Amino acid sequence: MMRLPKFRYFAPRSVKEALRIKAGEGSGAAFVAGGTDLYPNMKRRQQTPKVVIGLSRVAALGRLRAGESGLAIGAAVPLSAIEQHRRVRRAYPGLAHAIREISTPPLRNMGTLGGNVLLDTRCNYYDQNYEWRQAIDFCMKKDGTICWVAPASSKCLAVQSADSVPILIALGARVALVSPEGEREIALEELYRNDGIHYLTTRPDELLTEIRVPKPDGWTASYKKLRRRGAFDFPVLAVGAAVLREGGRVAEARIVLGAVSSAPVRASAAEAVLVGRPLDAAAIGEAAEAAAGPSRPMDNTDFSFLWRKEMTKKWVAAALSELSGPSGSAP
Ligand SMILES: Cc1cc2nc3c(=O)[nH]c(=O)nc-3n(C[C@H](O)[C@H](O)[C@H](O)COP(=O)(O)OP(=O)(O)OC[C@H]3O[C@@H](n4cnc5c(N)ncnc54)[C@H](O)[C@@H]3O)c2cc1C
Ligand code: SF4
Repeated sequence: MMRLPKFRYFAPRSVKEALRIKAGEGSGAAFVAGGTDLYPNMKRRQQTPKVVIGLSRVAALGRLRAGESGLAIGAAVPLSAIEQHRRVRRAYPGLAHAIREISTPPLRNMGTLGGNVLLDTRCNYYDQNYEWRQAIDFCMKKDGTICWVAPASSKCLAVQSADSVPILIALGARVALVSPEGEREIALEELYRNDGIHYLTTRPDELLTEIRVPKPDGWTASYKKLRRRGAFDFPVLAVGAAVLREGGRVAEARIVLGAVSSAPVRASAAEAVLVGRPLDAAAIGEAAEAAAGPSRPMDNTDFSFLWRKEMTKKWVAAALSELSGPSGSAP
């Protein structure tokens, strides 16, 4: 049985208190929301914080507001609360669907949107217990020096695998980050760096407080996930697509690929193919071909990486086809 290492636990009741504890404890401290990513990682000694700062008692992080300007989802709102929220299901069905694709109902009751957005990157050589990793002399991401996926690589290629991220980016989501210096808001897309170890652009003293999704305003969006098991599995290819149509033609499009890199990948050439055209079979086919270009999966998740690249075309076509009805499915 894998056991948690010893750590000190704090349960602050406000953002200010959480930040004060973090500032005092420094880089040896980690925030925890639902713990469905952090605690398994701690059991495998992939992450070894000496101090854990629980966020579940911070009321401000547990609020979900659906207002005139869109959704404001507190970072510690459980995934199940989002997928079951009436306004989310009605106005953002693609997002509700993506969240339903995350793991299992008990894990969605514990896991939060903030934790999903900040999920650690994944790799077959890393997501193993301590003894397994020790037997291969570890790897660059933790305790070792080499990358077993690409030994000549100077950086880790572990994969961004969070289900909510591609569709949230496609929907134009932004995130609020709070530190002792105040709050800043950035596009969700800017939160990620294409580096399996330093995969976030946040500073260590920053707390993610809110995920903000603009109101649909004519955009429709869909999500497609490739995985081995239907019951639950991380994505090994994910597609978030959103289009804005005016007069029967695509005015703007966003296509975001997940699980093919250490950061979400924007398929900009595929987006450009769609603009100014009806969302018909010809446009979808061309966009799907173009989307496979920037899809460069590595051999570090389930399934062959060549097949996953090939499947990018099919999954992008499927995501766009879902939006191709008279009004498309809503976001
Ligand atoms: C069996 C299993 C299956 C899974 N399947 C999937 C899946 O199919 N798809 C998927 O996307 N995920 C999956 N997950 C991963 C995980 O359950 C989800 O990603 C979940 O949303 C993580 O949320 P959490 O609140 O539990 O995160 P936590 O474990 O609490 O936190 C995750 C990371 O974010 C940091 N953090 C959390 N909140 C904040 C904050 N507000 N500010 C700053 N840092 C913060 C933590 O320090 C930690 O590094 C699975 C996990 C398990 C165990
Ligand atoms: S991509 Fe390489 S360095 Fe990164 S976790 Fe996998 S084996 Fe380790």
